[in-house]
Formats: sequence, structure tokens, C-alpha cells
Amino acid sequence: MKDITRLTSATLGRANSRRAVNTGVERGSTVLFENAEMLYNDDVRPTYGTDGLSTQDELRRLLIDLEGACDSFILPSGLAALTVPIFAFLQAGDEILVVNSCYAPVRRFVETQLKRYGVVARYYEARLTPAEVLALATPSTKMIYVESPGSLTFDMQDIPGIAALARARGILTLCDNTYGSGVLFKPLAHGVDLSMQALTKYVGGHSDVLIGSISVADKNLAATLYKTIKAFGFFTSADESYLATRGLRTLHLRLKQSGDSALKIARWLEGRPEVLRVVHPGLASHPDHDMFARDFSGSNGLFMVLFKGAKDGNNERQSQAFLNRLKLFGLGFSWGGFESLAVNCEPQVRGRPKLSDEPDPYLAGSSIRFYVGLEDAEDLIADIEQALKVFA
Ligand SMILES: *Cc1c(COP(=O)(O)O)cnc(C)c1O
Repeated sequence: MKDITRLTSATLGRANSRRAVNTGVERGSTVLFENAEMLYNDDVRPTYGTDGLSTQDELRRLLIDLEGACDSFILPSGLAALTVPIFAFLQAGDEILVVNSCYAPVRRFVETQLKRYGVVARYYEARLTPAEVLALATPSTKMIYVESPGSLTFDMQDIPGIAALARARGILTLCDNTYGSGVLFKPLAHGVDLSMQALTKYVGGHSDVLIGSISVADKNLAATLYKTIKAFGFFTSADESYLATRGLRTLHLRLKQSGDSALKIARWLEGRPEVLRVVHPGLASHPDHDMFARDFSGSNGLFMVLFKGAKDGNNERQSQAFLNRLKLFGLGFSWGGFESLAVNCEPQVRGRPKLSDEPDPYLAGSSIRFYVGLEDAEDLIADIEQALKVFA
């Protein structure tokens, strides 16, 4: 046979035995079938690389276990893992209720893309009771979007309560559980229908991967999600999947270390004269700490601090001066990696849907969101302490 024939046919029918601890990175578009009868058999999967191969399967297997799901799907980003289920289950004329403390890019999706398809999004206040949330639902309401603790301001929602009332009315619940990382909170066990995570954050854990997941406990929901993902042609690479799987192996350790350090730093900040309020659901001072303690097995490395307002009234400028003095905290929007990060929150707080005429309490001072990574907590405290001088 000619070179070219030998080079191409060498891949056919090779035994796929592996002896390493980890599933390798299996790349592939074409999938080979064992016989012709299997070619058009709908029960055979994968039929093509977009279904994912062994690397993606390993990640899904671990996620199904972690989430207590019947199936988990992976998507190219956390945001895609939120927009796909919204798209999959809503159609023209339907309505979705969205919590106002949601991850901000979700608002962009519902306000631009969903709107084009005739789906109406209405916002509700995070701290409404389940009965108050459901009182907003109309016969067109098909989905309630929850996130707890909410992005940035850590508002708690009674997710088990909302999920139970929604299910009784045939309304789906979609939970952004990135905060819980599949560990601290179990949405499906609390009656939620669709449990999403940005694996980009703690699961990836090293700021080098973008990937999301959506998990369900119901076979019909799984079938609709599969069809939608397939129809759109979304595919998540084996490399990203491999890194997420690798992250899952050490997730518990990293989450605990980061969460413990964050609590320590948050408690230290609570005792500082420059601080108006530390917003951390794991602290007894949080207005919904009891609900957090009821539903969550622990807290992660995120919290917000409201520092006293600037003498000249420019709180945002004061926040920027503080951020610029930090040496151990990178200035960046993500979190869940090994490195600590900080951002100021004023522009994001101002950009949220306004549902009441009251002045926003988070604009009463300089607001900073901290993410505490794996550095030593005392070193981080020393860094924050030297930067506090800007509030003097
Ligand atoms: C980061 C994040 C997302 C989106 O994840 P990406 O992978 O960055 O798209 C969604 N929800 C929350 C709460 C997040 O923090």
C-alpha cells in the first residue's frame, strides 16, 4: 500500500486501551461505527464529535454524581450554560421572572436576544418571599430564574421554597449555582429543575479555562437540553473538559481553604473603623444568615465590603484609589482561581434594575468585592491594611 493509505488506515480499529490514572484528552470530529447497521441507529451515541468523546464523558459522569443529576451537559462557558436552558424551554409569548441580583450578562441576554423572540423578562427583588415571587407569576410565566447568594450583593433567596411553589404551578426553576460550585449547595436536591454552574470558577480553579454545566434530575428535561445543544451546534473541547475534570479532583480542598480565609478576612474587616458593613452570608451580621446556614454547607471566598463614603462624595474614585494600592489582589472580574482578586462595585450596582425608590444602600459608601484565593490569610490582611490608608 502507498504511504498515504497506510497513514490514514492506521487509525481504523486500533484498540483503545489506557493504563493511566486519568482519562486522556481525546480530540475528535469523526466517530467510527463498528458496523453499518449502527450508522443510522438513534440509540448509538456519540455519532459525531459534537456529542463529546471520552474526555467530556468523564467530566459529565463526575458532574452527574456531584449534582445528584440524571444528566449533566457541558457548554463552552458559564454564560452559555445559562442562556441555552432559557432558550430551550421558552417560546414566543412566554415570560421569565429573573432575580434582580442575577449575574449581569444574563440581563443583557434576556433584554436583547430573548426580546427578539417575543419572550418577556420581568425582574423581581431578591429578598421577596417565595409566595411574593409566585404572586408575580402569570399564566405565561414558564420559568423562574434564581441565584443565591446573588452576584455582587450576596442577597439570599429561599430557593427550596420558590422551587416547591413553582413546581406546584408547573413553572420551571433555573438556578445559577456558581457560588455553591456543586458542593456548598445542591439545587436539584432542593427541588430546582435546572442547576447551572460556571465551571470556569472554582471547578477549573486556575483561571485558565472557560466552561459551564447544566444538570437536571428529569429525563424529559435532559432530552430537550440535548436536542437544543445539538441544534445550535455547541461543542465544548476535550482540553477544557480535561482541565475541569482535573479541577474537580481538588475542588473540595481549594474551596475550603479559600472559604476559610475569606471568613477570617471578613471578620477582621468587620472590626475596622473604615468599614460601614461587610456583606458575607456566612457572617451572623448578614440579614439572611439563618437561611444561608439552613441551605448551605459552607461559604466560598467571595464577599463585599462597604467602606465609609468619601469626604468629597466621590465614592467610586475612593474605591479606585483603594484598589490601586492593593499588591496581592489582582484587579479582575472573575473568581475561583488560586489568586486573590478585587473589583469595585459601584458601576454594576448602579446598572441593576431599579425596583424601588429607596436609595441603594450599596451606594452609601465605597463598595469592593473581594475574592480570596489560596494565599496566606495573614498576608492578605496585611495587604488590605496598608491599602486602608486611603479611607483615612
Ligand atoms: C462567572 C459567572 C458566570 C459565567 O461564567 P463564564 O464561564 O465566565 O461565562 C455565571 N454566573 C456567575 C454567578 C458567575 O460568577
